[in-house]
Amino acid sequence: MSNKQTVYWIVDKKSDHLHKADEIKEAALWIKKGEVVAFPTETVYGLGGNALMESAIEKIFRAKGRPNDNPLIVHIASKDQLAELVSTIPLLAEKLMDAFWPGPLTIILPSKHTVSSRVTANLPTIAIRIPDHPVALALLKEAAVPVAAPSANVSGKPSPTTAEHVKHDLSGKIQGIVDGGKTGVGVESTVVDCTEVVPVILRPGGITKDQLEQVVGPVKVDPALFEEGSAPRSPGVKYTHYAPNAEMYLVVDHSQRIQGFVDQLRREGKRVGVMTTHEHVDQYEADLILPCGYREDLETVASDLYETLRKFDEHDIDMILAETFPKQGVGVAIMNRLEKAAGKRFL
Ligand code: AMP
Ligand code: MG
Repeated sequence: MSNKQTVYWIVDKKSDHLHKADEIKEAALWIKKGEVVAFPTETVYGLGGNALMESAIEKIFRAKGRPNDNPLIVHIASKDQLAELVSTIPLLAEKLMDAFWPGPLTIILPSKHTVSSRVTANLPTIAIRIPDHPVALALLKEAAVPVAAPSANVSGKPSPTTAEHVKHDLSGKIQGIVDGGKTGVGVESTVVDCTEVVPVILRPGGITKDQLEQVVGPVKVDPALFEEGSAPRSPGVKYTHYAPNAEMYLVVDHSQRIQGFVDQLRREGKRVGVMTTHEHVDQYEADLILPCGYREDLETVASDLYETLRKFDEHDIDMILAETFPKQGVGVAIMNRLEKAAGKRFL
């Protein structure tokens, strides 16, 4: 499927007439017919395909080079679509939907096995969310089918937060890209399993544990997120992700230590980049210094994270030394992604 002429639709996410836009209608029609189309959500750009069609799902896996055992999240426009997808909706799940949908929360529920088995990787459960983005919602409504959509990047690379990133990774491999501007949250949705009595976070994301607990009481976190060697319940979590081309290291107690490492590595002839925040850009001397949001507002760090990681790939850098963040609130998701990008290498 390479060398496809990828169609590029530009839409205004602020328009009141999105649902009537020809671009949305055309993109939705392609999805309905079994082609795959990238579109913006509030987290990152997704690569959407008709979840009811095996051939469409096959195209998603092929375009991304995604491992077959990594199931996809099904995106819907409204709760009315749940009945055809899940066998039951536990009360706690219902409460989470009411509190956080549309929004960056993916809920794992017992599957009714109506979607292609490739979507769920043959699991008895299905991952579902309603995204909070006018373009995504207009497209999903118009397509009127459940849409399986992983992030619209080549597997292993940072997720795309702009249509340019999608173009870079998938142009020529997919039917089209709906460009609705930069996404907001920047890290993917929180994945929460609601098939057991106590909900379990399988992947940290845009909604924090505290936020979930305020609605449903105690929530567990899959221990595999922290322990080496134990099998994660969310298959995708075990894969290396988001890795820039240069070798990346996370530096604990960074404020005093990074410059020392930079100087040492440069003496060894390495070209060294530093990933910092706007507050600290003037603090370092290195071959490339890129700020990622404002440390005092972690949501800006999440929003800029993947774009910053991708920017390092535009430069000839051997190593990246990155500051770390407190594992609080959205900092949990930020550090989860950074640890993956760095292959858990700490200095
Ligand atoms: P992505 O589409 O790249 O955002 O990744 C989707 C995430 O949801 C991956 O970590 C998947 O492993 C996870 N996921 C999707 N479906 C399920 C499921 N039925 N059970 C557990 N995790 C799931
Ligand atoms: Mg992804």
